Amino acid sequence: RFSSQFLDELRDRVPLSGIVGNHVQLRRRGREQLGLCPFHKEKTPSFTVNDDKGFYHCFGCGAHGDVIAFEMNHGGLAFPDAIERLAGIAGVALPQASPEAAAREKVEDRLIGVLEAATRWYEGELHGPRGAAALAYLQARGLSDATIQRFRLGFAPEGRGLLIAALGKQGFSEGEMLETGLLVAVEAPKTPFERFRQRILFPITN
Ligand code: ZN
Repeated sequence: RFSSQFLDELRDRVPLSGIVGNHVQLRRRGREQLGLCPFHKEKTPSFTVNDDKGFYHCFGCGAHGDVIAFEMNHGGLAFPDAIERLAGIAGVALPQASPEAAAREKVEDRLIGVLEAATRWYEGELHGPRGAAALAYLQARGLSDATIQRFRLGFAPEGRGLLIAALGKQGFSEGEMLETGLLVAVEAPKTPFERFRQRILFPITN
């Protein structure tokens, strides 16, 4: 998502000493600035910041990196979060996702949609005639209706093709169902079939 040109621009626009200076008291020494290392305990400064080169370096512990690395290693940010923060400081707009990334995201959204639709269908099945025995079993195990609802428990009926038909009506393809793992692939000319049958389901939502 972030081109090397964009990252270079960010490094150019946000002086390293400005970012480091928020956490470390820096004193100028020649072309560099010097301070107590924020990555290890020390009493004599051995942490240098060079704005020309765009790097910090600690002669004590070997910590080394650019402004992005500092945000990640000192601020504890993940790479994209570090970029977002620095872009905010620099006042530059974040680049839009590439067409490939956007397409990938679209596919992911679609697959999440398949899983959501399946979860809803399994929930409905638990409360329908095919799920009566399963629901009675859960209730006998002491699960309240509120718990069943909150954790979105469902039931996958025995019949092959039932889920495929139900999700198909909602516009989802077998290929999409296959990709999520809801279906088991078999060699042609046989058709894929539902992975979950005749069982209670506990969806994992994170
Ligand atoms: Zn150090």
